[in-house]
Amino acid sequence: MPTIGVLALQGDVREHLRSLAAVGARARAVRRPGELEEVDALVIPGGESTTMWKLAEAFELLEPLRVRIKEGMPAYGSCAGMIMLADRIVGGTADQQTIGGIDMVVRRNAFGRQVDSFESVVDFAGAPFHAVFIRAPWVESVGDGVEVLAVCEPGDRIVAVRQGPLLATSFHPELTGDERVHSYFVDMVRTTR
Ligand code: GLN
Repeated sequence: MPTIGVLALQGDVREHLRSLAAVGARARAVRRPGELEEVDALVIPGGESTTMWKLAEAFELLEPLRVRIKEGMPAYGSCAGMIMLADRIVGGTADQQTIGGIDMVVRRNAFGRQVDSFESVVDFAGAPFHAVFIRAPWVESVGDGVEVLAVCEPGDRIVAVRQGPLLATSFHPELTGDERVHSYFVDMVRTTR
């Protein structure tokens, strides 16, 4: 059974640990480079991507995270985690860095002030999914190797993608008790190994 880490610098770490446990995965928090080495895959939670990036640098995790992702470690990023997995972002602070890995452009806080937070039913990988968005990003464009898994009305904005062992959603499945996205990720981890 693979061990799945949850990056525990900032954000809704506990909710992801609970969702992973609910789908039968072995999950643990990752705060240090040594803890990152011990996991087979990683979830990057929602939170605030500029804070997460700065903490990742302060905890000397940014480079090790980039190395593991380059080596093919499966990872799933939700919301701020999606931003962290994007090769390019718009709407960030001037110097904001990401881990990268998915060939996409992600726009931070894309849905704007009127709809800071909203809920919507999206089609995730072929089935309806009740999605919660909180100051959410959307995916502005994707490269050829990226599969679009969900779009959101209005405007058909891309809100879930996969590229090889990397998965990202704009929304927060860890908040709704519907564990199908986590279960999808755990299946990805099992088949990648
Ligand atoms: N707006 C946040 C950011 O830019 C993401 C919001 C979230 O993770 N719920 O990091």
